Amino acid sequence: MPHSDPYDYIIVGAGSAGCVLANRLSASGRHRVLLLEAGGKDRSPWIHIPLGYGKHFTNPKVNWLYANEPDAAVANRRIPNPRGKVLGGSSSINGLVYIRGQREDYDQWRQLGNDGWSFDDVLPYFRKSEDQQRGADAYHGAGGPLAVSDPKTPHPLADAFIESAVARGYPRTDDFNGPNHEGFGYLQFTQRNGLRASAAVAFLRPARGRANLHIVTRAHATRVLFDGTRATGIEYVRNGRTETAEARGEVILSGGAINSPQLLQLSGVGPAQHLRDLGIAVVADRPGVGDNLQDHFNIRMVYRSRIPATLNDALNNPLRGARELARYALRRDGFLAMGASVAAGFFKTDPAAATPDIQASITLFSADKIGQKLHPFSGFSSIVRLLRPQSRGTVMIKSADPFEAPAIQPNFLHQPRDGEVLARGCQLLRRIVATPPLADLVEDEYLPGPDTVSDADMIEFLRNAGATSFHPVGTCRMGPDDAAVVDPRLRVRGLAGLRVVDAAIMPVIVSGNTNAPTIMIAEKAADMILQDAAEG
Ligand SMILES: Cc1cc2nc3c(=O)[nH]c(=O)nc-3n(C[C@H](O)[C@H](O)[C@H](O)COP(=O)(O)OP(=O)(O)OC[C@H]3O[C@@H](n4cnc5c(N)ncnc54)[C@H](O)[C@@H]3O)c2cc1C
Repeated sequence: MPHSDPYDYIIVGAGSAGCVLANRLSASGRHRVLLLEAGGKDRSPWIHIPLGYGKHFTNPKVNWLYANEPDAAVANRRIPNPRGKVLGGSSSINGLVYIRGQREDYDQWRQLGNDGWSFDDVLPYFRKSEDQQRGADAYHGAGGPLAVSDPKTPHPLADAFIESAVARGYPRTDDFNGPNHEGFGYLQFTQRNGLRASAAVAFLRPARGRANLHIVTRAHATRVLFDGTRATGIEYVRNGRTETAEARGEVILSGGAINSPQLLQLSGVGPAQHLRDLGIAVVADRPGVGDNLQDHFNIRMVYRSRIPATLNDALNNPLRGARELARYALRRDGFLAMGASVAAGFFKTDPAAATPDIQASITLFSADKIGQKLHPFSGFSSIVRLLRPQSRGTVMIKSADPFEAPAIQPNFLHQPRDGEVLARGCQLLRRIVATPPLADLVEDEYLPGPDTVSDADMIEFLRNAGATSFHPVGTCRMGPDDAAVVDPRLRVRGLAGLRVVDAAIMPVIVSGNTNAPTIMIAEKAADMILQDAAEG
């Protein structure tokens, strides 16, 4: 396929959304599709071995290594904000947890005027993408590209975590993606036979042999090309050379919630004054581009375990480490097959609330900072996550240089209620941990520890140790209003031939992890794009 001929679709970014689009838009063979990815191929075995997750936090080969701007509300820390830079994007480096959020999240999107995005509207797209290990039912699909699996083996600490929550009166659930999202139970993972099911593995591998799909890695898109207000192609840099590709159909931005608004702004689509100040010619004054950033602020509570059954124990002892390797090689289970968390709970900090506002999960390891050396003692952590933050932030370019990272300002804790709700969630988690059977397995709380008593103390701990859940969304907000960046068909308002399809379009963050929702968004977008093409 000659690269100089125009494409029907140019997709920027081979992440969770981009891989789905590349597959679906090229499936009929009728459309010429170009997929550009700034990162390289997903060859490293540690991408595919789930535990490799821990190795990618600081690895520039697969990670953009962003950091948020310092902010007094979080003790002026530059909180690391990793993003995948490799085929599969963040789905190649994420924690593998498969969670969709609540029915109410999508119903709210619909209530905001986004026709076609209620839970009942989007459920078919979740089902379409899914290959659920337990088989199909009203909520789940089987036979789709994305493997969703149960953990192979239970773990005594995860069992105890669930039992203690149940002892405190919380419901037990074996499916966070079924009719009821509330309760405690084991998680499911985007995984097949102990190997990661990234979007690249699930959607790109089966499509990459197609003659009408051209995948170019190490191609960093630097600008959308316009003829007036119509997008006509992409400029990108590969091996130090600037190249262009022409789109006769559409340019689709799937660079994720940090890079899609960045690329729009670099291309002259964004807050006009800011762009002019940086010397960028304005194509469209869209103040919403880069606005409305939302993320799940979280905190890691760390516990010392009385049983030496944690990942710390396995990795701090060479013999046990070797046993784990052998176990994985032979049976594809054990610690190497585990996602970031094993079990979780969704609960309410206010019993009068309609739905849970906190997610707490248990991870079978502990470290001072995520991605760093594990503690020398038997330790586990619980990540407590604020599901519906009120704080809103921004992603804004700092210069016209496409290789300079944008300023990422999530404004964590700027709304006092966010800190109050998360602090309450932490106190409730403490009560669960203090209840048998888990209480019998815990030596003590290592972080924040006994000096953190009141909610005010806890908020201070949040300021000094809180972090991102790696779920930035919302920076190219979908909406029916003029201030929205994209309309409910994900077309950039005021321009032709240009869509954004990725986590950036979420008007409001979902109450759960963001990979499955992003894959759903791309499934639905692919249908809309093909429908629009068919209708001419
Ligand atoms: C460490 C980590 C752990 C996570 N854990 C979980 C989890 O357990 N469960 C869950 O559901 N979610 C998790 N997430 C979040 C989830 O993976 C993301 O929300 C989701 O993958 C976002 O998909 P996306 O398509 O919007 O962006 P991405 O998957 O990030 O894809 C964007 C792609 O575009 C490429 N790109 C960007 N700019 C350019 C450019 N200018 N030119 C060319 N290519 C470009 C990038 O390199 C990348 O490959 C995690 C994320 C991280 C980083």
